[in-house]
Amino acid sequence: MKVHLDSSMCQGHGQCNMSAPDMFIFDEQGFAVLVSEDVPSGREAAVSLAVVRCPERAITTSP
Ligand code: SF4
Repeated sequence: MKVHLDSSMCQGHGQCNMSAPDMFIFDEQGFAVLVSEDVPSGREAAVSLAVVRCPERAITTSP
């Protein structure tokens, strides 16, 4: 699974980091940054939770 983050849509709510703190960190302005586009085995559910929790729909996944 791959995960994608549209930084232009991010408003810094932080829901992604709460769902998968190993996959989403923050820049100096408080906006989300992807640690890696490759979702490690076993982290698919946490990343999928981040997708549905992001209020801006800034996170998407692909196979
Ligand atoms: S939940 Fe969405 S809007 Fe909030 S910080 Fe994460 S990517 Fe940005």
